[in-house]
Parts: sequence; C-alpha cells; structure tokens
Amino acid sequence: VSNWALRRAVIETARRTLEVGLTHGTSGNVSARAPEGFLITPTGVPYADLQPSDIVLLDAGGSAGRRQRRPSSEWRIHRDVYAARPEVGAVVHVHAPFTTTLACLRRDLPAVHYLVGVAGGSSVRCATYATFGTEELSRNTLAALEGRTACLLANHGLVALGRNLAAAFRVALEVERAAELYWRTLAVGEPVVLDHAEMERVIERLRDYGRSAQE
Ligand SMILES: [Zn+2]
Repeated sequence: VSNWALRRAVIETARRTLEVGLTHGTSGNVSARAPEGFLITPTGVPYADLQPSDIVLLDAGGSAGRRQRRPSSEWRIHRDVYAARPEVGAVVHVHAPFTTTLACLRRDLPAVHYLVGVAGGSSVRCATYATFGTEELSRNTLAALEGRTACLLANHGLVALGRNLAAAFRVALEVERAAELYWRTLAVGEPVVLDHAEMERVIERLRDYGRSAQE
C-alpha cells in the first residue's frame, strides 16, 4: 500500500472529527491530495475500524484502481476541489450540529466572531441545495467556496479546506464553533456582526499569524 503515512493521517483526522463532536456515526468524509490524485475515506466503514488499506486512492479524474473499497459518496466534491483549487491539500466534510442547523435554515454564517475569518471572508456561504453525492451538489459547493476555505451545504453539513489535514480540520472546528456562537447569540438577542472592512483587517492579520506559525 503506497502513501502509508498520508493514509494514517487521513484516518487520524477522521477520528478527531468524531472525538470533538464534529460528526457522528459514519457521516462525513476526509481526504488529502496525493501525488497520484487523492486519498479519501471509504463509504460505510466506521472511523474506529479504518485501516490504512481501507483508504481509497482516486486519480485526479475520480477513478479508482481495482480491488479498493468504494469511496465516500461525496468523492465528487473532493475531486472538483482539488482540480479547481491548487492551493488546497485536504478536505474535511462533516455533519456538525451547529453548522448543519444553520444549513437547514439555509442561512450564511455571518462574522459574528472574528475567527469566521479563518474561512477567508466575512461570511461562510450556504451552498444552494442539491441531492447528496451528485455532480450538481459539487458544482453548487464549488460556487459557495469561491474565495473561501469553507461553506455550508443546505440541509446537509459543512465542507472545510486547508493546505493540509491539520489546517482543514482547524477551519472546520472554528467555523462550527462560530456557528454555535451565532446560534447562542440569536437565542438571546441580535448579534453584532463585524463589518467588511474590519474582517479584511482580521483576515490580513490571520494570514500573518499563519505565516509566522509556518516558519
Ligand atoms: Zn455529507
């Protein structure tokens, strides 16, 4: 089995989404870009049971070699993100409770907290609804991700991108936390949303911190 370390990292990230409550059961999926295409979690296998050989290697067009498990039903989103966004090295998809609540309201997540900026803009958009696993859902997801590293999927969940697995996981977690804060503020009153100019400053600073963290 090639890409052993990356397969292990995909499994570790998938398990962390369960540990921190970003997903439950066998919902959601995780992938990482690989030299031959990308590695993605299979459909229907609990994350606890995953072995490196269960992770599915798809080429850039989304075709699998022989004798592999079936890839997650949302493999088209992962394939299309890697094709359209060369800077992205990993994709995390979850059905996290608070982002999914917003997604069921078909609402964007506004900049109710400055860390909404980790997704690259002053809001996290909710993609137009389409049936799970379809080309149409992938198209709608790519459109909602324009200039961003996260979007909500209407009546479905959350997609987060990053240059690597740790970065994509962090975006998913921060966006879910911000969605929880938004939900809490709406329960008490009317949240104060940071304006576009302030969010541009925030995003610039987050970029600087990201750079120094890499050094
Ligand atoms: Zn899903």
